[in-house]
Amino acid sequence: AANTAGTASTGPTVRMTHDPIVSPADTPNFLDNEFVPSKATQWIPVYDPATNNLVTRVPQSTAVELSMAVSSAQNAFPAWRATSIIARQQIMFRFTHLIKENWDRLAASITLEQGKTFKDARGDVLRGLQVAETACGITTQLPGEVLEVARDMETRNYREPLGVVAAICPFNFPAMIPLWCIPIAVMTGNTLILKPSERDPGAALILAELARAAGLPKGVLNIVHGAVDTVNFIIDEPAIRAISFVGSNRAGEYIYSRGSDNGKRVQANLGAKNHAVLLPDADKETALNAIAGAAFGAAGQRCMALSVLVTVGESSSYIPELVEKARKLVVSAGFEKDADVGPVISPESRARIESLIASAEREGASIILDGRGYKLEKYPQGNFVAPTVITNVNTSMACYKEEIFGPVLVCISVQTLEEAVDLLNANEYGNGASIFTKSGSSASYFQKNIEAGQVGINVAIPVPLPMFSFTGNKKSIAGGGANTFYGKPGLAFYTQQKTVTSLWRRENVDSGKQVVMPSH
Ligand code: NAD
Repeated sequence: AANTAGTASTGPTVRMTHDPIVSPADTPNFLDNEFVPSKATQWIPVYDPATNNLVTRVPQSTAVELSMAVSSAQNAFPAWRATSIIARQQIMFRFTHLIKENWDRLAASITLEQGKTFKDARGDVLRGLQVAETACGITTQLPGEVLEVARDMETRNYREPLGVVAAICPFNFPAMIPLWCIPIAVMTGNTLILKPSERDPGAALILAELARAAGLPKGVLNIVHGAVDTVNFIIDEPAIRAISFVGSNRAGEYIYSRGSDNGKRVQANLGAKNHAVLLPDADKETALNAIAGAAFGAAGQRCMALSVLVTVGESSSYIPELVEKARKLVVSAGFEKDADVGPVISPESRARIESLIASAEREGASIILDGRGYKLEKYPQGNFVAPTVITNVNTSMACYKEEIFGPVLVCISVQTLEEAVDLLNANEYGNGASIFTKSGSSASYFQKNIEAGQVGINVAIPVPLPMFSFTGNKKSIAGGGANTFYGKPGLAFYTQQKTVTSLWRRENVDSGKQVVMPSH
């Protein structure tokens, strides 16, 4: 039917419309490869951000259900780790194929629950799909090393799975972040318990359905739901060996420290405040389009969203043109064909964003494009904030210090590139930073001196492809950035090393007493 995307009878059904849903279905757990209705007593409502119509209710999975997920993952582990790598790889090939076949269905779920535009939601799926596609190369990624130490002795190093691992996901990339975890965790032989964001669990459940259809055995991927109670269960459950977290500093710093105290491996990607530096010699048109896209796309709800523009010298005179570009972006519900900027996730988030804009005004900044109070006739209940540009900002203002996570660009002007680099480096976050220039020496100075972990040169959102790693630093990642997501470090995170040293001699050699440390 025109209103329905997807075909599977058991997984979530998704509609490509913002019309109210008559008797919305509750979100199930996914245990032992089955969608299991929860016996929860606490439920979390999920609303379509464009209408605030109820889409589903997410359970706070019960203690019994959480334990079932752990037993399921534990039971599945021995057979899964004994499954040949070629057989695992075949499953990943099929999984990527099914993601492509269900691309629109996944994207529709994201638009409905998260709010981002349908086109952007397809990009959310793509960036996760690329991780799964890269994980298909597991047979050439996982081999260890071997060294012939002497003619009769060698040392080999293997990468073995950890066992049961868990992932705790944020709301802003409902497909991409689960796909940062599922392919690598399972291809390396682990079994995974995943908790999607309680605000938009639909895409993760579709991925589970596709993983099952691809041949992933029961228990290799389980999905549970909920908020802090589920997170605390995951942190404290001894059988869970590692936790992947993506989300805010508030939650992530807590999960990192309590998880580490419990002896678990934790990788935790946190918040951001990404700056772009605009030099007067930049290709103005291209740079302003890229900056507007990165600041307002996804309604600013990306960890790599551009939230601060630092103009150098006369490039501050480009701001009126930037404002014109921002003004022309179509703010609308995600399924509307012409929408550029969708709603933000919740009315609370909208109120928070608007109050940060108001604080800038109070602190003496100028709101030169004001997206507060934006109303759409067709979607009067939506959580819309239109693109907002704030100038005359200084680094002590709340709008500069806080991660706004909305379609708001704050602008600071400085006189030199050196000043700009110092300003960026003084910021406590270190996710991304970009420069727009035609000068090789300016770009090189920026690249060499900037502290942010992901640097764009004429690239507004420099998120590395999955053959590299997601390398935010400073306050944007917990634990000093030792455990980054995907790429070689991602593979290392989900595996433990074993080294085997063996000695095989054709004849016995009597080497006498051996009480001192061996020295070959
Ligand atoms: P969030 O921290 O509110 O939620 C993330 C997860 O943590 C959810 O599953 C939630 O249930 C859980 N959680 C929330 N509060 C908790 C608490 N007090 N104790 C324990 N668990 C808790 O984050 P969000 O709002 O869903 O996502 C937006 C944030 O994520 C932004 O700060 C953004 O920058 C960040 N983010 C970072 C990256 C990155 O790679 N650095 C990527 C995407 C998002």
